[in-house]
Amino acid sequence: MSDTVNGTLYVVATPIGNLEDLGPRAARLLGEVALVAAEDTRHTAGLLRHLGLSVPLLSLHEHNEAARVDQLDARLVRGEDIALVSDAGTPLISDPGFVLVRELRSRGRRIVPVPGPCALVTALSAAGLPTDRFLFQGFLPAKAGARRQRLEALASREETLVFYESPHRIRDSLAAIAEAFAERRLVLARELTKTFETFLDGSAEALLARMDDDPDQARGEFVIMVAGAAPNDEAEAAHLEADALLAALLAEGVGVKQAASVAARLLGGAKKAWYARVQALKEAD
Ligand code: SAM
Repeated sequence: MSDTVNGTLYVVATPIGNLEDLGPRAARLLGEVALVAAEDTRHTAGLLRHLGLSVPLLSLHEHNEAARVDQLDARLVRGEDIALVSDAGTPLISDPGFVLVRELRSRGRRIVPVPGPCALVTALSAAGLPTDRFLFQGFLPAKAGARRQRLEALASREETLVFYESPHRIRDSLAAIAEAFAERRLVLARELTKTFETFLDGSAEALLARMDDDPDQARGEFVIMVAGAAPNDEAEAAHLEADALLAALLAEGVGVKQAASVAARLLGGAKKAWYARVQALKEAD
């Protein structure tokens, strides 16, 4: 479907604290669109006032997002441009907008990102933890059991882990992280771009102790970053040793079945699994 007569949905990132972080392109577009779809219209009205703009607002939050799709699409089809914003940062990142963007894209509408602040990228950029690979996990589950399970599932991941957290649950989350990841290094970014911006560094237990000493450290908004698991060198070395033994047996003319049986007897584990591994080694040879 051609979109030449249709309007554009601009997905506009807004500041996560410091209003100076709103770029000139975002400011211009917010003044040019026919409508701003906002998570909390009162909150966004404050931002627009600060910019000296008066633009019609429409609420779009997790409870009405699906119901808003047709309404917003009709306006795009009429040729109107719309900006989508959330309360802070980049829409769709732990914020509403996914359903709208997915539906409009499937209808062939023009969707243009207008990049800007995002708490997870801001936090990573100054934490000093590896950023070549990271795993963003949004908010941890609120219920203790589900939270523990989620953390256990992540315990062996080698990427830097990134979580969002609110002041209501920061202590519970740190306690659960202390239990799941023991002494692993954490960096806790608080109140990014705001007056009381703080980066704390240490184990989860040490950070909890810090909050006991200074309860202000538990106030505000948080990005929790956890160092990834150390690479499993021991398991890797054992794997390579076993492969060398199997290759030597094959080179001596020992059959696949017999080699698998020797490996199972010497190294433990199921004969069937060893058979598959010897077979793969033989084929790769
Ligand atoms: N869409 C936003 C973004 O791009 O980062 C995230 C929205 S999510 C509902 C809100 C969470 O983001 C907060 O609970 C906190 O974990 C994180 N966050 C937002 N602003 C922050 C700030 N100034 N400092 C630290 N964390 C922040």
